[in-house]
Amino acid sequence: MSHSTTVIALREGLWQIKVPLPFPLRWVNSYLLREPDGSLTVIDPGLRTEAAEALWNEALEGLGFGYDRISQVVLTHHHPDHYGMAGWFQERTGAPVYLSETGIGQVRLLWGDGQPMTSLLTGLFVRHGMDAALCGELAKHMDSFVPLVSPQPQLTALRAGDRVRLGGTAYEAIETPGHAAGHLCFYDAQTREIFCGDHVLPQISPNVSFMPGVEDDPLGAYMASLRDVAPLPVEMAYPGHRSPFAGFGRRAEELVRHHEERLELMADKLHEPMTAYELCRDTFGDRLTLHQLRFAMAETIAHTVRLAVEGRVTQSEREGLIVYEARDEG
Ligand SMILES: [Zn+2]
Ligand SMILES: [Zn+2]
Repeated sequence: MSHSTTVIALREGLWQIKVPLPFPLRWVNSYLLREPDGSLTVIDPGLRTEAAEALWNEALEGLGFGYDRISQVVLTHHHPDHYGMAGWFQERTGAPVYLSETGIGQVRLLWGDGQPMTSLLTGLFVRHGMDAALCGELAKHMDSFVPLVSPQPQLTALRAGDRVRLGGTAYEAIETPGHAAGHLCFYDAQTREIFCGDHVLPQISPNVSFMPGVEDDPLGAYMASLRDVAPLPVEMAYPGHRSPFAGFGRRAEELVRHHEERLELMADKLHEPMTAYELCRDTFGDRLTLHQLRFAMAETIAHTVRLAVEGRVTQSEREGLIVYEARDEG
């Protein structure tokens, strides 16, 4: 990618940096903002890879900035494609790295000592019908992310409602759980701009994963937080993937409908009792990479859990496995 297509001046003092990803998503959007004192804020620096390091070196040099200009790194959420380079930036700049309190807890679970989430998640998947050999592969895959989020930064907690200075304007941190526990959007009512991370994406339906011990009903939380942000007056949304877009509220409502339809579809399939793994294969097919399977499986569980909460399916145990079945209506 050439400089002109990876560094895009969006308006005075705001740049979109397309940081490469070794996944089909291809890139994550990082945003660079100039503060009134001339220093710079980085939102979501990207996944740490050699290609991403090279891109950042090139991007900052092209803009005539040194790393010493960066005064803060602000994260919408803890996922590796957003958080991964935060420590690398902190090492070069000494800048504070801000993440929600919940996100900080997630970072410890995922990449803290012994990566506790790896065995929690594979244990969950076994209970939901995935075979143990596949779970072993998955554990290796999850642990392979550690170098992509290292070194890990010292984190400073943000809370819902906090005001965060971005390009000289105090944006409000709005908690928007669902895609990620503790996910924050940064909204300014004056300019009607929102940095929405992966909460609302154009063209892509953000993944909603059930993660053990995190959120009891992540899909319920996601649909509620989509409904929370849909009425906000927004002229321009700056998402974590793809391009800045208008029509934020409409897109949020579209995502709610997408999940309502997905719930309907899955409830229908569950007239035949199934484990979440069987339902996942039935819904997403057999040709998934390990990486895709992990997200498809966690997304399927998020839906079955939601269906159980809504009373549309029953959950029972058969030979140690969790099985779902649609309730007969009337
Ligand atoms: Zn994400
Ligand atoms: Zn992302």
